[in-house]
Formats: sequence, structure tokens, C-alpha cells
Amino acid sequence: MSDQPYARPLPDPSPEAKRFWEAAKRHELWLSYCRSCDRAYWYPRDFCPLCGSRDVEWRRSEGKGHVYTFAIHYRAFHPGWNDDVPYVTALIDLDEGVRIFSNLVEVEPDPKAIRCDMPVEVVFEDVTPEFSLPKFRPVQP
Ligand SMILES: [Zn+2]
Repeated sequence: MSDQPYARPLPDPSPEAKRFWEAAKRHELWLSYCRSCDRAYWYPRDFCPLCGSRDVEWRRSEGKGHVYTFAIHYRAFHPGWNDDVPYVTALIDLDEGVRIFSNLVEVEPDPKAIRCDMPVEVVFEDVTPEFSLPKFRPVQP
């Protein structure tokens, strides 16, 4: 964390998502999981969007997956990112079967350096005392 105030929008967790953000602060990725249909789902809710069951729980994710798709941003959509362009956003398919939106980090923001299906793992960026953001970096297959 730098000494400068964080200049970007921060999460505003719903009651259902509080546990996700508390885990992220500990640098752990947790997902909602349905015991009725035996599947993880995203985003956190107190019922399963796949089968409607309320027999759900939290399970820790391994934080590993693959890039489904990505975009390299050359213009910031918010002034908070002005100093970071170009940067990469991506949809990540986690091994647990859910697709989440995040950033790709520790990789050149160059289409030659990034490919769909690239294996990735979660890393956490501590942006404020309250929030750590899950992001993903490439790993060797
Ligand atoms: Zn279900």
C-alpha cells in the first residue's frame, strides 16, 4: 500500500458478500457452494442460482483457473486508473467451475503475452486497511 489515499472506487459489500471480502482481506478466496446440486456459484448469494436451494455454504477456493477472455485497457474509464494504463481485465474460469471478473497482473499488457486458456492463480492486492482485491497472475502449466 502506498501512503496516498486510494483513488479508485472500493467494494460496497452486500450482506451476502461480506464473508467473501473478509476472506480476501486474509488473502483467501472463498466461494458460495450449493450442497444440493454440488456446485460452486458466483456471485455470493444466500441461495443457489443454479437450482434454487438454500442449502448453501462457503468453501475455500484453490484460487487456480484459466483465462476465459481478457481486454487490454489503453484509456482509463475512471481517473483513479489514469496512471495504470495499459492494464488488463479478464474473465477467469476457476477450477471450481465459476467465472469471475478480475485483473491480470504480473504480465505485460500485450496481446502477445496473454492468451485465452492461460493458467492463472490468485494473488491479493492490499489497497486499503479494509480491502484486499483478488487478482490473477500467470503460472506455468
Ligand atoms: Zn444448487
